[in-house]
Amino acid sequence: MSKIAFIGLGIMGAPMAAHLVRAGHEVTGYDVAPKGLDALVAAGGSAAGDVAGAVAGAEIVITMLPQDEHVEEVVFGGLLDAAGPGALYIDFSTIRPETSIRVAEAGRERGLRVLDAPVSGGEKGAVDAVLSIMVGGAEADFEAARPVFAAVGKTFERVGGNGAGQYVKAANQLIVGGTYGLVAEAIVLMEAAGVDAGAGLDVIAGGLAASRILELKRGSMLARRFEPGFRIDLHHKDMGIATAAARTAGVSLPLTGMVAQLVAAARAQGHGALDHSALLKVVEDLSGR
Ligand code: NAD
Repeated sequence: MSKIAFIGLGIMGAPMAAHLVRAGHEVTGYDVAPKGLDALVAAGGSAAGDVAGAVAGAEIVITMLPQDEHVEEVVFGGLLDAAGPGALYIDFSTIRPETSIRVAEAGRERGLRVLDAPVSGGEKGAVDAVLSIMVGGAEADFEAARPVFAAVGKTFERVGGNGAGQYVKAANQLIVGGTYGLVAEAIVLMEAAGVDAGAGLDVIAGGLAASRILELKRGSMLARRFEPGFRIDLHHKDMGIATAAARTAGVSLPLTGMVAQLVAAARAQGHGALDHSALLKVVEDLSGR
């Protein structure tokens, strides 16, 4: 069992940290907001007053933060200085591949072993400990991280060197965003035509168009319940990562571009704090509904 520091105890981080406690690890957490810290203490972990306090003496350091700037702030503003040489640093956040590569290089200079390990599966996946984890970094470090991945996830793969996990997560997010957009269009079409959209989605979910999104979210979308879950603001960030990644890789992803603009519209219309299924609102607006 390991001594683990967990920084970023939000919608995803709090349940993940609790699973690590349940798996027998000694988990010390830090978050700028008190809510996640209270949840960790209730789960049997302990709370630190800052990044350095959580990281000092940890064999494994974990971050689960919203965006690039938060990861850079934590890594360069305390984590690197406080982590002992040889510690394994796993960043579960979804950020740009370039940032993951820069963080890994800076970590290596200090003797840390660094993995980018963005996740998919949403809040429910984190609560149920069945996340999919896409890992970039050295094979030996991936092997060393297995007990952590097994405690919070079900499917985990090493997909390449540092930054590779973020490319796979970008690919994941363009599929998720595109699927939400098309489910929204299907709902708008069926409702406008006066058919029973609920029964329609039930039968669609039994055929080739079945997806986890239809399975988990069709009820809340039909009821127009958009509490997050995964915020439009974060998906906007992810579509930015996906479009920049396409540029870096030198490829054209036209549908990704359209989905990115739909997500941008949702944000511009003031829906940034709603769940990404609120893309339905934008698609309805386009048809004046
Ligand atoms: P969140 O906003 O709920 O949680 C992030 C936490 O980080 C917050 O509690 C915040 O207070 C904390 N934080 C911010 N800056 C900090 C700092 N400098 N020091 C310490 N703590 C700090 O976000 P989330 O939904 O848990 O998402 C986290 C990451 O996981 C994001 O990159 C997101 O894209 C990704 N992700 C989210 C989901 C989801 O369904 N919510 C699914 C897969 C991946």
